[in-house]
Amino acid sequence: MKPLRKLDGFSNFPKLAFRRRLLAWYDVHRRELPWRVSRDSYRVWLSEIMLQQTRVAAVIEHYHEFLRRFPTVKRLAAAREASVLAAWSGLGYYRRARMMHAAAKVIVYERGGNFPANAEELQMLPGVGRYTAAAIASIAFDKPAAVVDGNVERVLHRISGKRLAGEELWTAANHLLDAKRPGDFNQAMMELGATVCTPRMPTCLMCPVIKLCATRGELAATSKPMPQKKREIHYALNCRNGEVLLVQRAPDASLMPGMWELPQRQSPDNASQPQLTLRHSITTTNYAVHVWRSIAPPRRLGKWTSVERLKQVALTGLARKILLAAEII
Ligand code: SF4
Repeated sequence: MKPLRKLDGFSNFPKLAFRRRLLAWYDVHRRELPWRVSRDSYRVWLSEIMLQQTRVAAVIEHYHEFLRRFPTVKRLAAAREASVLAAWSGLGYYRRARMMHAAAKVIVYERGGNFPANAEELQMLPGVGRYTAAAIASIAFDKPAAVVDGNVERVLHRISGKRLAGEELWTAANHLLDAKRPGDFNQAMMELGATVCTPRMPTCLMCPVIKLCATRGELAATSKPMPQKKREIHYALNCRNGEVLLVQRAPDASLMPGMWELPQRQSPDNASQPQLTLRHSITTTNYAVHVWRSIAPPRRLGKWTSVERLKQVALTGLARKILLAAEII
């Protein structure tokens, strides 16, 4: 094997060899994922939106159910927002669902059902940023637009041996992109980052581009990870005759507006034990979530919801997690 190489950007990088090796590896080793079965633009779009900040395993579960409820962009555009949020429930980051719903309306009611077929037009849809536009344009429409997400960024850092930033990353990704198979190339880069060139302990010996890589391992960190905060939070679980008491978040709440959750309550001042305690993390905060069985006062604000209906309710991810842990759903 040749010695490690230090690259000055990507201008002298052997991109043809890189593309050939990466795509040959992808053709053999790619994971069979449901959204890779079809290049239908609606399905590609849905998978790309769901995969933002969400693990593949969690997305697979919701992807099928969402398509069962809204099999076409037309059906999604015609749906009530509450139904869309209910189908999204458990995936978190509900703004994605709202934006996708709004974009479906634009496609159906303003563009006569025609899906934008290039990255520039795609970026004009609500909730479609530079990454998502490039992913849809390349995968569904074969347009030569490179993607940069966390996985691609890490691969680019390591193969170049440099901490590229901002526009440098997009330039490098576009420089390497295989214009004949842009969708496969983009997915191959992301697949390499997700399965081989992982954040910790990359399996370089299994890597198809090891001979071209400047780092062959983790690139030394330049910044410390954000410190995690700890918080305690208490919820009341009120049940009666097959119903659960839920409250709705304010429509102008900065997080998850309009979604349904269990009522929060004060920490009890006696030494009693909660019914259950679970962990929940949001960005840099780790919550210890204590759930208390309660009997709601008769005039308590909220809505009694039958357990059978809970599937159709736009629950917050944490509410769903609690109800699952309490074996209510
Ligand atoms: Fe990543 Fe290692 Fe492959 Fe380099 S050789 S791209 S560090 S997996």
